[in-house]
Amino acid sequence: MTAPRTFLSTLTGSFATPAAENPTVAMVEAAYRHHGLDARYINCEIAPGALGDAVRGARAMGWAGFNCSLPHKTAVIEYLDVLAPSAEIIGAVNCVVRDGGRLVGENTDGRGFVESLRTAADPAGARIVLFGAGGAARAIAVESALAGAASVTVVNRDQSRGRALADLVSIRTGARSEFVPWTPRFRMPAGTEIAVNATSAGLFPAVGDVIDVDLDSLASVHLVADVIPNPPRTRLLTEAAARGCLTLDGLGMLVNQGAVAMRLWTGVDPDRDVMRATLAEIFG
Ligand code: NDP
Repeated sequence: MTAPRTFLSTLTGSFATPAAENPTVAMVEAAYRHHGLDARYINCEIAPGALGDAVRGARAMGWAGFNCSLPHKTAVIEYLDVLAPSAEIIGAVNCVVRDGGRLVGENTDGRGFVESLRTAADPAGARIVLFGAGGAARAIAVESALAGAASVTVVNRDQSRGRALADLVSIRTGARSEFVPWTPRFRMPAGTEIAVNATSAGLFPAVGDVIDVDLDSLASVHLVADVIPNPPRTRLLTEAAARGCLTLDGLGMLVNQGAVAMRLWTGVDPDRDVMRATLAEIFG
């Protein structure tokens, strides 16, 4: 006897504006197909004033969950039932998961970074220097600290934003954290094991841009990571590799944050290679 067919797919998607250039739908649906899942990912253009209705709609339609991208990562919180611990500390949600009747706010940006990092280096006990203090940096700082980093040094142009992030990490996690002002041609502090660019420097089309660091001082750093997914090979990573550092690109973080979300929605831990190949083709 064959199992009865069902015509009711698992629904997931993304709420953002602008949404048209977000390639996540292609990456996630490639993984759904690869794993034979009857699931869809619907990329939705949602204006700020429509966010509440969109979340109520997803709830009414029984969506398994959805991503929230700019500008909704903080605003979505008021429409959710509970926050996962790291999302609560970060203060932002990029992934919502239905758990029974509840909508749970998660932040998979930082978890995606840490899962990507673990393919190359262990965050536990590591001394990390993080450039930037925006949304990506907050997620990376908190999740790396929760993964056992010994210290997270925050370097940012805007001092109040940088200090606030260092304070958040030291107060809410077990890691040591301090803010260091960004002086011109910044030299990497002695003992830095992992350096992370979490600024937008180097993002397409400004592909020649690189953060203001003394590139030769990278030579003593074990691993240099970049959050920029497009292009994956940023100038920072090229310069770091030329000085003997291990490098980790932002495509890995993007793929892994999607993989974590898919695991939360469907219970399937997807094949990263399928997801990465889809994005690599899109980014050319
Ligand atoms: P935000 O606008 O929240 O923060 C931007 C940060 O970059 C700020 O700290 C800002 O410093 C700093 N900054 C911008 N330009 C420069 C520069 N030329 N030199 C030094 N610092 C600079 O952005 P997000 O944190 O949301 O995003 C940052 C980047 O991360 C984006 O390029 C985004 O594409 C990428 N990203 C990648 C993800 C992935 O999965 N790979 C996920 C999320 C984001 P200041 O405070 O001084 O203005």
